[in-house]
Amino acid sequence: NKVLNFLRNNALTLLTFTGVILGAVLGIILRNVKDDWTEREVMYVRFLGDLFLKMLKSLIIPLIISCLVSAIASLDLSLSKRVAARAIGYYLCTTFAAVVLGIIVVCTMRPGVGRNVDHTQKASISSNVTTVDTLLDLVRNMFPPNVIEACIFQFRTVLTPRDNNDTDIYNFKIGTDISQTTNILGLVIASTVIGIALGQGGKHTETLANLFHNLMYMMMTITSWVIKLSPGGILFLVAAEILEMEDFGSVMSSLGMYFLTVLTGLFIQAFIVLPILYFTLTRQNPFTYIKCLGQALATAFGTASSTATLPITIKCLEEKLGIDPRIARFTLPIGATINMDGTALYEAVAAIFIAQVRGVDLDIGKIIAISITATAASIGAAGIPQAGLVTMVMVLDTVGLSAEDVSLILAVDWLLDRFRTAVNVMGDAFGSGVVHYRSKKELQELNATLAAREGDQS
Ligand code: ASP
Repeated sequence: NKVLNFLRNNALTLLTFTGVILGAVLGIILRNVKDDWTEREVMYVRFLGDLFLKMLKSLIIPLIISCLVSAIASLDLSLSKRVAARAIGYYLCTTFAAVVLGIIVVCTMRPGVGRNVDHTQKASISSNVTTVDTLLDLVRNMFPPNVIEACIFQFRTVLTPRDNNDTDIYNFKIGTDISQTTNILGLVIASTVIGIALGQGGKHTETLANLFHNLMYMMMTITSWVIKLSPGGILFLVAAEILEMEDFGSVMSSLGMYFLTVLTGLFIQAFIVLPILYFTLTRQNPFTYIKCLGQALATAFGTASSTATLPITIKCLEEKLGIDPRIARFTLPIGATINMDGTALYEAVAAIFIAQVRGVDLDIGKIIAISITATAASIGAAGIPQAGLVTMVMVLDTVGLSAEDVSLILAVDWLLDRFRTAVNVMGDAFGSGVVHYRSKKELQELNATLAAREGDQS
């Protein structure tokens, strides 16, 4: 009976995990049937998975805006400030801990030492966008000129080749370009400001605040429909990915040790560091918490995107873990945007691995530089597939390595991305749980005040 109950309560999660496994099996079978799959054929296999991903993506913008605005508007300003400070404090500390862990693991396992690579491959550093450019982009994106623009693109510093008759030594000019990915960070900031303003507006802004509450309710309902499609969607996404990958055996023989190093770090962060921290701060069982996150973790693995997983993470926390919706809806969108423990760890490991391969000596100054830029690079990475690979340029730049060196780790990145995304989602969820626990008393006080106010009115 107990088993039956467990199966009934966790049917969708179990099905989603089954989807991941069946997807891998299907991919392997199809690969064995024939080895030269064309892009078009892979696209056909991926088709249903792509539809699922599109549905998830369509939820993101309205969900982030309505969740943040309505959660912040329903807390009073001083509590909002405390919740935000706790969340951001927790996120920064755990991100930094992940980076330090990554550095320790890679310096112990030394996966890049003694490997032979073609040193002539090294590209000139002059074509790199610098760390400062990337940091400025991060800040620039916090202030979108308007919300509609933020929904469509973000700013990104680029280097464009100069005209032929230009005699600049680098032959590149710096400009600000736009890239067609949603500027989630900008949306988070804009929604926070709108939420605070609506909270302050009281009666004058009540109608608009209610509109955001209603929008959020509607989005959560649609989310619950889309979640039901996740086992099938994930199955085809994973199968297509396996069809596209390079020969696993040869990739693993050259990058296996690096792969193992990142995986070891992620494992320690997910199952030792985060649980110990959670237990210390809340005295609750962290593994029960992880168990309830199954659906979100499987989706993170299947989609490689913490933003696309966000709707499901919110549902898991509210429905399975009983986290106060005002806290979950406030902290999770922020977490999905700036808190990426898995990515931070991977950035540090990958940068040091590349330095080891290239034979670059890393003194303590450089290690400190890596730890700071890896933290910033994970904050700057969008919650989309392989975003960490792009922001890694900034970490490489600080230690004098070239952007093109990311090609050394490219072959396994699609798979590592899935593991690190799952750890990113886990980090966000634990953060939300900690903030919920730490804010319990204040929430009860707020509830009592609201109830008293309602009593007065009636
Ligand atoms: N795919 C990751 C995420 O969505 C980001 C990364 O590339 O590390 O969280």
